[in-house]
Amino acid sequence: MNPDHNTPVSPILPGAWLGMVGGGQLGRMFCFAAQAMGYRVAVLDPDPNSPAGSVADRHLRAPYDDEAALTELARLCAAVSTEFENVPAQSLDALAKTTFVSPAGRCVAIAQDRIAEKRFIAAAGVPVAPHVVIESSQALAALTDDALAAVLPGILKTARLGYDGKGQVRVTNADEVREAHASLGGVPCVLEKRLPLKFEVSALIARGANGATAVYPLAQNTHRNGVLSHTIVPAPDASPALVQQAQQAALQIAAKLGYVGVLCVEFFVLEDGTMVANEMAPRPHNSGHYTVDACATSQFEQQVRAMTAMPLGDTRQHSPAVMLNILGDVWFPCGAGESKAQKGAAPVTPPWNEVAAMPAARLHLYGKEDARPGRKMGHVNFTAPTLDEARAAARDCARLLHIITG
Ligand code: ATP
Ligand code: MG
Repeated sequence: MNPDHNTPVSPILPGAWLGMVGGGQLGRMFCFAAQAMGYRVAVLDPDPNSPAGSVADRHLRAPYDDEAALTELARLCAAVSTEFENVPAQSLDALAKTTFVSPAGRCVAIAQDRIAEKRFIAAAGVPVAPHVVIESSQALAALTDDALAAVLPGILKTARLGYDGKGQVRVTNADEVREAHASLGGVPCVLEKRLPLKFEVSALIARGANGATAVYPLAQNTHRNGVLSHTIVPAPDASPALVQQAQQAALQIAAKLGYVGVLCVEFFVLEDGTMVANEMAPRPHNSGHYTVDACATSQFEQQVRAMTAMPLGDTRQHSPAVMLNILGDVWFPCGAGESKAQKGAAPVTPPWNEVAAMPAARLHLYGKEDARPGRKMGHVNFTAPTLDEARAAARDCARLLHIITG
Protein backbone atom coordinates (compact mmCIF):
# COMPACT_ATOMS: atom_id res chain seq x y z
CA MET A 1 0.00 0.00 0.00
CA ASN A 2 1.22 3.49 -0.75
CA PRO A 3 2.09 5.15 2.59
CA ASP A 4 0.00 8.13 1.53
CA HIS A 5 -3.14 6.00 1.25
CA ASN A 6 -3.54 5.30 4.94
CA THR A 7 -3.25 8.84 6.22
CA PRO A 8 -5.58 9.03 9.22
CA VAL A 9 -8.86 10.66 8.26
CA SER A 10 -9.98 11.29 11.80
CA PRO A 11 -7.68 12.27 14.66
CA ILE A 12 -5.96 9.59 16.71
CA LEU A 13 -6.93 10.64 20.21
CA PRO A 14 -4.93 10.45 23.48
CA GLY A 15 -5.05 7.00 25.02
CA ALA A 16 -3.81 5.49 21.77
CA TRP A 17 -0.31 4.03 21.38
CA LEU A 18 2.25 5.84 19.25
CA GLY A 19 5.43 4.18 17.97
CA MET A 20 8.93 5.59 17.74
CA VAL A 21 11.65 3.91 15.72
CA GLY A 22 14.90 4.95 17.39
CA GLY A 23 15.70 5.42 21.05
CA GLY A 24 17.91 8.54 21.11
CA GLN A 25 17.32 11.91 22.72
CA LEU A 26 14.85 13.02 20.05
CA GLY A 27 12.76 9.93 20.78
CA ARG A 28 13.02 10.63 24.51
CA MET A 29 11.71 14.19 24.15
CA PHE A 30 8.99 12.88 21.81
CA CYS A 31 7.95 10.44 24.57
CA PHE A 32 7.73 13.26 27.13
CA ALA A 33 5.52 15.34 24.81
CA ALA A 34 3.29 12.43 23.77
CA GLN A 35 2.90 11.14 27.32
CA ALA A 36 2.07 14.64 28.60
CA MET A 37 -0.83 14.65 26.15
CA GLY A 38 -2.00 11.23 27.33
CA TYR A 39 -0.65 9.00 24.57
CA ARG A 40 1.33 5.87 25.30
CA VAL A 41 4.59 5.32 23.44
CA ALA A 42 6.40 2.19 22.28
CA VAL A 43 10.05 2.64 21.30
CA LEU A 44 11.96 0.29 19.01
CA ASP A 45 15.69 0.33 19.74
CA PRO A 46 18.24 -2.46 20.25
CA ASP A 47 20.05 -0.64 23.10
CA PRO A 48 18.70 -1.74 26.52
CA ASN A 49 19.70 1.65 28.00
CA SER A 50 18.60 3.97 25.21
CA PRO A 51 17.48 7.48 26.26
CA ALA A 52 13.96 6.98 24.84
CA GLY A 53 13.58 3.27 25.65
CA SER A 54 14.06 4.01 29.33
CA VAL A 55 11.17 6.49 29.48
CA ALA A 56 8.80 4.79 26.99
CA ASP A 57 5.68 2.92 28.12
CA ARG A 58 7.08 -0.03 26.23
CA HIS A 59 10.55 -0.73 24.87
CA LEU A 60 10.91 -3.23 22.03
CA ARG A 61 14.58 -4.18 22.23
CA ALA A 62 15.35 -5.29 18.71
CA PRO A 63 17.19 -4.09 15.61
CA TYR A 64 15.41 -1.54 13.42
CA ASP A 65 14.82 -4.15 10.71
CA ASP A 66 13.59 -6.93 13.00
CA GLU A 67 10.44 -8.27 11.35
CA ALA A 68 8.73 -9.55 14.49
CA ALA A 69 9.36 -6.26 16.34
CA LEU A 70 8.10 -4.19 13.40
CA THR A 71 4.97 -6.34 13.21
CA GLU A 72 4.38 -5.85 16.95
CA LEU A 73 4.95 -2.09 16.66
CA ALA A 74 2.48 -1.85 13.76
CA ARG A 75 -0.08 -3.97 15.64
CA LEU A 76 0.15 -1.91 18.82
CA CYS A 77 0.46 1.62 17.44
CA ALA A 78 -2.07 3.80 15.66
CA ALA A 79 0.79 5.83 14.15
CA VAL A 80 4.56 5.49 14.06
CA SER A 81 7.36 8.04 13.75
CA THR A 82 11.13 7.90 13.59
CA GLU A 83 13.84 9.99 15.17
CA PHE A 84 16.83 8.24 13.68
CA GLU A 85 17.80 9.38 10.21
CA ASN A 86 19.53 6.17 9.24
CA VAL A 87 16.57 3.93 10.02
CA PRO A 88 16.11 1.53 7.07
CA ALA A 89 13.48 3.16 4.83
CA GLN A 90 12.23 -0.41 4.14
CA SER A 91 11.30 -0.72 7.82
CA LEU A 92 9.12 2.39 7.56
CA ASP A 93 7.57 1.09 4.35
CA ALA A 94 6.81 -2.25 6.04
CA LEU A 95 5.13 -0.41 8.95
CA ALA A 96 3.20 1.75 6.50
CA LYS A 97 1.39 -1.32 5.14
CA THR A 98 -0.78 -1.41 8.26
CA THR A 99 -0.23 1.78 10.25
CA PHE A 100 0.30 5.48 9.57
CA VAL A 101 3.97 6.47 9.34
CA SER A 102 5.17 10.06 9.66
CA PRO A 103 7.57 10.95 8.14
CA ALA A 104 6.95 8.56 5.24
CA GLY A 105 9.72 6.16 4.22
CA ARG A 106 10.14 7.87 0.86
CA CYS A 107 10.83 11.25 2.57
CA VAL A 108 13.33 9.66 4.95
CA ALA A 109 14.99 7.88 2.01
CA ILE A 110 15.59 11.21 0.26
CA ALA A 111 17.04 12.84 3.37
CA GLN A 112 19.30 9.80 3.94
CA ASP A 113 21.13 10.32 0.68
CA ARG A 114 22.87 13.65 0.06
CA ILE A 115 22.76 13.07 -3.70
CA ALA A 116 18.98 12.49 -3.78
CA GLU A 117 18.48 15.25 -1.21
CA LYS A 118 20.33 17.91 -3.20
CA ARG A 119 18.54 16.85 -6.38
CA PHE A 120 15.17 17.04 -4.63
CA ILE A 121 15.79 20.40 -2.97
CA ALA A 122 17.01 21.95 -6.23
CA ALA A 123 13.96 20.53 -8.05
CA ALA A 124 11.76 22.23 -5.43
CA GLY A 125 13.24 25.53 -6.62
CA VAL A 126 15.59 26.05 -3.65
CA PRO A 127 19.27 26.68 -4.42
CA VAL A 128 21.90 24.28 -3.05
CA ALA A 129 25.71 24.60 -2.82
CA PRO A 130 27.60 24.04 -6.09
CA HIS A 131 28.62 20.37 -6.07
CA VAL A 132 29.73 17.43 -8.17
CA VAL A 133 28.22 13.97 -7.64
CA ILE A 134 30.81 11.18 -7.35
CA GLU A 135 28.97 7.86 -7.53
CA SER A 136 32.07 5.61 -7.61
CA SER A 137 35.85 5.51 -8.04
CA GLN A 138 35.35 4.91 -11.78
CA ALA A 139 33.08 7.93 -12.02
CA LEU A 140 35.71 10.01 -10.21
CA ALA A 141 38.45 8.77 -12.57
CA ALA A 142 36.33 9.98 -15.49
CA LEU A 143 36.12 13.53 -14.09
CA THR A 144 38.73 15.99 -15.38
CA ASP A 145 40.77 18.19 -13.07
CA ASP A 146 38.88 21.17 -14.53
CA ALA A 147 35.51 19.64 -13.62
CA LEU A 148 36.73 19.20 -10.04
CA ALA A 149 38.39 22.63 -9.90
CA ALA A 150 34.97 24.26 -10.33
CA VAL A 151 34.03 23.08 -6.80
CA LEU A 152 37.43 23.46 -5.11
CA PRO A 153 38.39 24.13 -2.41
CA GLY A 154 35.63 21.83 -1.28
CA ILE A 155 34.33 19.31 1.20
CA LEU A 156 33.96 15.70 0.15
CA LYS A 157 30.91 14.27 1.95
CA THR A 158 29.71 10.66 1.88
CA ALA A 159 26.22 10.47 0.38
CA ARG A 160 24.98 8.29 3.22
CA LEU A 161 25.42 7.82 6.98
CA GLY A 162 27.15 11.16 7.71
CA TYR A 163 26.14 13.16 10.78
CA ASP A 164 27.71 15.75 13.05
CA GLY A 165 30.44 16.39 10.46
CA LYS A 166 31.40 12.70 10.24
CA GLY A 167 32.15 11.25 6.80
CA GLN A 168 33.52 14.58 5.57
CA VAL A 169 36.99 15.55 4.34
CA ARG A 170 38.18 19.02 3.38
CA VAL A 171 40.07 19.04 0.08
CA THR A 172 41.86 21.73 -1.90
CA ASN A 173 43.04 20.06 -5.14
CA ALA A 174 42.14 17.18 -7.45
CA ASP A 175 44.77 14.83 -5.99
CA GLU A 176 43.40 15.38 -2.50
CA VAL A 177 39.89 14.61 -3.79
CA ARG A 178 41.07 11.23 -5.10
CA GLU A 179 42.96 10.47 -1.89
CA ALA A 180 40.02 11.52 0.27
CA HIS A 181 37.57 9.48 -1.81
CA ALA A 182 39.75 6.39 -1.40
CA SER A 183 40.01 7.08 2.37
CA LEU A 184 36.20 7.16 2.55
CA GLY A 185 36.12 3.72 0.95
CA GLY A 186 35.21 4.83 -2.58
CA VAL A 187 31.54 5.09 -1.59
CA PRO A 188 29.10 7.47 -3.35
CA CYS A 189 29.91 11.06 -2.32
CA VAL A 190 29.24 14.67 -3.17
CA LEU A 191 32.09 17.10 -3.55
CA GLU A 192 30.67 20.38 -2.35
CA LYS A 193 32.26 23.78 -2.86
CA ARG A 194 33.45 25.32 0.43
CA LEU A 195 31.38 28.46 0.71
CA PRO A 196 32.15 31.71 2.54
CA LEU A 197 29.52 31.50 5.29
CA LYS A 198 28.30 34.66 6.95
CA PHE A 199 26.05 32.66 9.27
CA GLU A 200 23.82 29.58 9.34
CA VAL A 201 20.09 29.34 9.97
CA SER A 202 17.48 26.61 10.13
CA ALA A 203 13.80 26.78 9.27
CA LEU A 204 11.54 24.55 11.34
CA ILE A 205 8.05 23.87 10.05
CA ALA A 206 5.31 21.29 10.39
CA ARG A 207 2.81 20.02 7.87
CA GLY A 208 -0.35 18.15 8.77
CA ALA A 209 -2.05 15.30 6.96
CA ASN A 210 -4.61 17.82 5.63
CA GLY A 211 -1.87 20.05 4.18
CA ALA A 212 -2.10 22.67 6.96
CA THR A 213 1.27 24.14 7.91
CA ALA A 214 2.84 25.76 10.96
CA VAL A 215 6.06 27.78 10.90
CA TYR A 216 8.46 28.43 13.79
CA PRO A 217 10.68 31.53 14.05
CA LEU A 218 13.98 31.26 12.18
CA ALA A 219 16.89 29.90 14.26
CA GLN A 220 20.53 30.93 13.90
CA ASN A 221 23.08 28.18 14.45
CA THR A 222 26.77 28.11 15.30
CA HIS A 223 28.70 24.90 14.68
CA ARG A 224 32.05 23.88 16.14
CA ASN A 225 33.99 21.04 14.53
CA GLY A 226 30.95 20.23 12.38
CA VAL A 227 28.66 19.82 15.43
CA LEU A 228 25.92 22.26 16.48
CA SER A 229 27.22 24.33 19.39
CA HIS A 230 24.38 26.77 20.04
CA THR A 231 21.20 28.20 18.55
CA ILE A 232 19.81 31.71 18.95
CA VAL A 233 16.15 32.50 18.25
CA PRO A 234 14.98 34.72 16.69
CA ALA A 235 18.00 34.69 14.36
CA PRO A 236 19.78 37.94 15.24
CA ASP A 237 21.49 38.42 11.87
CA ALA A 238 18.61 37.54 9.54
CA SER A 239 16.69 40.32 7.81
CA PRO A 240 12.90 39.97 7.58
CA ALA A 241 13.35 39.16 3.86
CA LEU A 242 15.78 36.36 4.64
CA VAL A 243 13.46 34.93 7.32
CA GLN A 244 10.66 34.89 4.79
CA GLN A 245 12.85 33.33 2.10
CA ALA A 246 14.08 30.49 4.35
CA GLN A 247 10.63 29.69 5.73
CA GLN A 248 9.11 29.78 2.24
CA ALA A 249 11.82 27.44 0.96
CA ALA A 250 11.13 24.93 3.75
CA LEU A 251 7.39 25.05 3.02
CA GLN A 252 8.06 24.51 -0.69
CA ILE A 253 10.19 21.45 0.06
CA ALA A 254 7.55 20.04 2.44
CA ALA A 255 4.76 20.59 -0.10
CA LYS A 256 6.74 18.90 -2.88
CA LEU A 257 7.45 15.94 -0.56
CA GLY A 258 3.77 15.67 0.42
CA TYR A 259 5.31 15.71 3.88
CA VAL A 260 3.47 15.02 7.15
CA GLY A 261 5.33 15.89 10.34
CA VAL A 262 7.99 18.28 11.59
CA LEU A 263 10.68 19.19 9.05
CA CYS A 264 13.84 21.22 9.53
CA VAL A 265 15.87 22.69 6.67
CA GLU A 266 19.40 24.01 7.33
CA PHE A 267 20.65 26.92 5.26
CA PHE A 268 23.95 28.70 4.69
CA VAL A 269 23.83 32.48 4.36
CA LEU A 270 26.82 33.55 2.29
CA GLU A 271 28.97 36.66 2.58
CA ASP A 272 27.12 38.19 -0.39
CA GLY A 273 23.77 37.69 1.40
CA THR A 274 22.53 34.84 -0.81
CA MET A 275 21.14 31.73 0.82
CA VAL A 276 21.57 28.07 -0.11
CA ALA A 277 20.00 25.01 1.48
CA ASN A 278 22.49 22.67 3.17
CA GLU A 279 20.37 19.70 4.17
CA MET A 280 17.04 18.72 5.66
CA ALA A 281 16.06 16.66 8.68
CA PRO A 282 12.72 14.83 8.40
CA ARG A 283 12.05 15.13 12.14
CA PRO A 284 12.40 17.50 15.08
CA HIS A 285 15.93 18.92 15.03
CA ASN A 286 18.63 19.85 17.54
CA SER A 287 18.21 23.51 16.55
CA GLY A 288 14.51 23.28 17.50
CA HIS A 289 15.09 22.18 21.11
CA TYR A 290 14.55 25.77 22.26
CA THR A 291 10.84 25.37 21.37
CA VAL A 292 10.33 23.21 24.49
CA ASP A 293 10.88 26.20 26.79
CA ALA A 294 10.24 29.17 24.49
CA CYS A 295 7.23 28.35 22.28
CA ALA A 296 3.56 27.67 22.87
CA THR A 297 3.94 24.26 21.20
CA SER A 298 7.25 22.39 21.25
CA GLN A 299 8.58 20.72 18.11
CA PHE A 300 7.99 17.34 19.79
CA GLU A 301 4.37 18.05 20.63
CA GLN A 302 4.00 19.31 17.06
CA GLN A 303 5.27 15.98 15.72
CA VAL A 304 2.72 14.20 17.92
CA ARG A 305 -0.04 16.46 16.59
CA ALA A 306 0.99 16.01 12.94
CA MET A 307 1.21 12.22 13.09
CA THR A 308 -2.11 11.88 14.93
CA ALA A 309 -3.97 14.23 12.56
CA MET A 310 -4.67 16.52 15.51
CA PRO A 311 -4.71 20.25 14.72
CA LEU A 312 -1.19 21.72 14.54
CA GLY A 313 -0.27 23.79 17.59
CA ASP A 314 0.53 27.48 17.95
CA THR A 315 4.22 28.10 17.10
CA ARG A 316 4.33 31.49 18.82
CA GLN A 317 7.62 32.14 20.63
CA HIS A 318 6.88 33.67 24.03
CA SER A 319 10.52 34.25 25.09
CA PRO A 320 13.74 35.03 23.24
CA ALA A 321 15.91 31.93 23.54
CA VAL A 322 19.38 30.46 23.30
CA MET A 323 20.03 26.71 23.24
CA LEU A 324 23.49 25.55 24.31
CA ASN A 325 24.46 21.98 23.44
CA ILE A 326 26.15 19.92 26.15
CA LEU A 327 28.67 17.51 24.65
CA GLY A 328 30.54 14.82 26.58
CA ASP A 329 33.63 17.08 26.65
CA VAL A 330 32.01 18.94 29.54
CA TRP A 331 32.73 15.92 31.80
CA PHE A 332 36.47 16.41 31.16
CA PRO A 333 36.88 20.05 32.19
CA CYS A 334 40.66 20.40 32.29
CA GLY A 335 41.02 21.61 28.73
CA ALA A 336 42.28 18.69 26.64
CA GLY A 337 39.04 16.72 26.93
CA GLU A 338 39.79 14.32 24.16
CA SER A 339 43.28 13.27 25.18
CA LYS A 340 42.29 13.06 28.86
CA ALA A 341 39.33 10.86 27.98
CA GLN A 342 41.52 8.69 25.82
CA LYS A 343 44.02 8.33 28.62
CA GLY A 344 41.17 6.98 30.74
CA ALA A 345 40.71 10.04 32.97
CA ALA A 346 37.59 9.66 35.06
CA PRO A 347 34.71 11.85 33.96
CA VAL A 348 33.68 14.53 36.47
CA THR A 349 29.97 15.31 36.90
CA PRO A 350 29.52 18.95 35.83
CA PRO A 351 28.21 21.47 38.40
CA TRP A 352 24.54 21.12 37.42
CA ASN A 353 23.50 22.78 40.68
CA GLU A 354 25.23 25.96 39.51
CA VAL A 355 23.43 25.74 36.16
CA ALA A 356 20.14 25.26 38.00
CA ALA A 357 20.91 28.39 40.02
CA MET A 358 20.74 30.51 36.87
CA PRO A 359 17.17 31.88 36.57
CA ALA A 360 17.26 31.84 32.75
CA ALA A 361 18.48 28.24 32.43
CA ARG A 362 16.46 25.07 31.88
CA LEU A 363 18.60 21.94 31.98
CA HIS A 364 17.84 18.98 29.71
CA LEU A 365 19.98 15.84 30.04
CA TYR A 366 19.37 12.75 27.95
CA GLY A 367 20.17 10.06 30.54
CA LYS A 368 23.19 8.73 28.63
CA GLU A 369 25.58 6.86 30.89
CA ASP A 370 28.93 7.34 29.13
CA ALA A 371 30.14 10.87 28.57
CA ARG A 372 32.43 10.78 25.54
CA PRO A 373 33.96 13.79 23.81
CA GLY A 374 31.73 14.93 20.95
CA ARG A 375 28.71 12.91 22.19
CA LYS A 376 25.48 14.88 22.60
CA MET A 377 24.62 14.47 26.31
CA GLY A 378 22.07 17.24 26.77
CA HIS A 379 21.41 20.93 26.27
CA VAL A 380 20.47 24.01 28.27
CA ASN A 381 17.75 26.37 27.09
CA PHE A 382 18.02 29.99 28.20
CA THR A 383 14.94 32.16 28.08
CA ALA A 384 14.68 35.75 29.26
CA PRO A 385 12.65 38.91 28.64
CA THR A 386 15.24 40.06 26.07
CA LEU A 387 17.52 38.20 23.70
CA ASP A 388 20.53 40.06 25.13
CA GLU A 389 19.78 38.66 28.59
CA ALA A 390 19.32 35.14 27.25
CA ARG A 391 22.61 35.42 25.36
CA ALA A 392 24.44 36.75 28.41
CA ALA A 393 23.14 33.84 30.52
CA ALA A 394 24.23 31.34 27.86
CA ARG A 395 27.70 32.92 27.80
CA ASP A 396 27.97 32.69 31.60
CA CYS A 397 26.92 29.04 31.52
CA ALA A 398 29.35 28.22 28.71
CA ARG A 399 32.13 29.77 30.80
CA LEU A 400 31.05 27.80 33.88
CA LEU A 401 31.10 24.53 31.93
CA HIS A 402 34.28 25.38 29.97
CA ILE A 403 32.41 25.25 26.66
CA ILE A 404 34.05 27.20 23.85
CA THR A 405 31.29 28.81 21.78
CA GLY A 406 33.24 31.35 19.73
P1 ATP B 1 24.62 17.41 11.06
O1 ATP B 1 24.06 16.07 10.87
O2 ATP B 1 25.09 17.69 12.44
O3 ATP B 1 23.77 18.52 10.53
P2 ATP B 1 26.38 16.78 8.90
O4 ATP B 1 27.38 15.74 9.23
O5 ATP B 1 25.19 16.41 8.12
O6 ATP B 1 25.98 17.49 10.22
P3 ATP B 1 26.77 19.19 7.32
O7 ATP B 1 25.48 19.78 7.77
O8 ATP B 1 26.91 18.86 5.90
O9 ATP B 1 27.19 17.91 8.19
O10 ATP B 1 27.98 20.13 7.74
C1 ATP B 1 28.25 20.46 9.10
C2 ATP B 1 28.73 21.89 9.16
O11 ATP B 1 29.97 22.06 8.40
C3 ATP B 1 27.78 22.90 8.53
O12 ATP B 1 26.74 23.24 9.42
C4 ATP B 1 28.76 24.04 8.22
O13 ATP B 1 29.10 24.75 9.39
C5 ATP B 1 30.00 23.31 7.75
N1 ATP B 1 29.92 23.11 6.27
C6 ATP B 1 29.35 22.06 5.64
N2 ATP B 1 29.38 22.20 4.30
C7 ATP B 1 29.97 23.39 4.05
C8 ATP B 1 30.29 24.12 2.86
N3 ATP B 1 29.99 23.64 1.64
N4 ATP B 1 30.92 25.31 2.98
C9 ATP B 1 31.23 25.80 4.21
N5 ATP B 1 30.94 25.17 5.38
C10 ATP B 1 30.32 23.98 5.33
MG1 MG C 1 24.04 19.58 9.10
